[in-house]
Amino acid sequence: MPLEFLRRKGGAPKGQPVVAPEPPPAVPEEAVAEDHQLRLNFGAKTSNGVRLQGGPNLLAALSGMLAGIAKTTVEVVEPRATTLASASPNIIRTAEATEWLRAHGDLLPITRHALWVLESLDAIDPACDTFACALLDGTVDTGGYPEYASIVGGVAAHWDEATGDLIVRAIVGWGGRGARGDTDRIATRLLGLLLGSILESGASLGFTAAERPGAAPGGASVTCQHCGYPLVHPRAVYCPKCGMRMLHA
Ligand SMILES: [Zn+2]
Repeated sequence: MPLEFLRRKGGAPKGQPVVAPEPPPAVPEEAVAEDHQLRLNFGAKTSNGVRLQGGPNLLAALSGMLAGIAKTTVEVVEPRATTLASASPNIIRTAEATEWLRAHGDLLPITRHALWVLESLDAIDPACDTFACALLDGTVDTGGYPEYASIVGGVAAHWDEATGDLIVRAIVGWGGRGARGDTDRIATRLLGLLLGSILESGASLGFTAAERPGAAPGGASVTCQHCGYPLVHPRAVYCPKCGMRMLHA
């Protein structure tokens, strides 16, 4: 066949028929598809806020609230630097992902997994929350990352804009390529344990509404003179991120 093709230019050799090229295959109505699919399953639970009387050693006490509940070392994540305002754990948004890695790339795998899940669900605000985190249930893979049914979390805290008290809430999350039937039940139990631990920490003033700090409705906000956090409510007395008293003109 290839030889016939080469010879065709000079005409078919004597006694041999010209070989016609094969017609192209008919275009099918539909392509035969091989399907590819990935379903990620994330979940999180957060408790009401518990108001704790403000004090200098309060943030340092956060990791102690996971005592007896955490299965690994507790890592405390401070609020993100204001210069990394667009950070996001979204790999294809490279500018945001780069900021996220600058802010959190050196954290432990368990903590990075927890932030990825909880930020994706908008269950935590790393711009002003201080987050004490550990593995709470389940196992990690050989790289140290939690399996999809493992539960991570701990407590998250910000400063109350009106009173300067610390508002602490219990927070748990899980997720990945899969789901398991009993994860939700275990997460609820862990959330209760964490909330109890916050309430028993000694400085509790009772529950508070789980309102988010930040800009007023309509987006009006002012910038903290101390830490530069730009989303403080215009009538806030204290900055939710650093807890310092605001200086209003
Ligand atoms: Zn501040």
